Amino acid sequence: MKFDLLPILNADGRRLPLNLELDLIGKEEDGARFLTPVSVTGEFVNIGGSIELCAKAVCRVEYVCDRCCEAFESDFCCSFEEVFKKEDVRVEDDQNPDAVILTGTAIDIDEIVLANVLVNLPTKRLCMDDCKGLCAECGHNLNQSDCGCDTIPTDPRFDILDKLL
Ligand SMILES: [Zn+2]
Ligand SMILES: [Zn+2]
Repeated sequence: MKFDLLPILNADGRRLPLNLELDLIGKEEDGARFLTPVSVTGEFVNIGGSIELCAKAVCRVEYVCDRCCEAFESDFCCSFEEVFKKEDVRVEDDQNPDAVILTGTAIDIDEIVLANVLVNLPTKRLCMDDCKGLCAECGHNLNQSDCGCDTIPTDPRFDILDKLL
């Protein structure tokens, strides 16, 4: 979706609210599957000619647990900021090298939200903090029950114990 910044583009101090839902239901990215639309709330502010966006994205996501490989759901929430500058802003005046240079007056807000959500997805994914994982011997999910195999659980915390023995 294109979002037009024209109403505040040339008015220092002017604000523009952002409220949108980005429909990513069913989309899978990097092992995460979106279960709800991404709800985005925020505000654009013109600060000295550059447009700053502060926003928050909220949705529900399904991940696969790193240890037991079971799918689990979790609430996702991230805050992000972006700065946009008009094309005619001289480079030497630019104090923020990460600013997105505007071509025209509109931005592709979907693309910006999606990029920020993806970089904020958790890299460590556990269905619960103390997930017991799978039995190295028989593959049984040890969260459900003990399988009876005589193995040391494949939990990195136990690697330290192995070295000590
Ligand atoms: Zn797990
Ligand atoms: Zn087992």
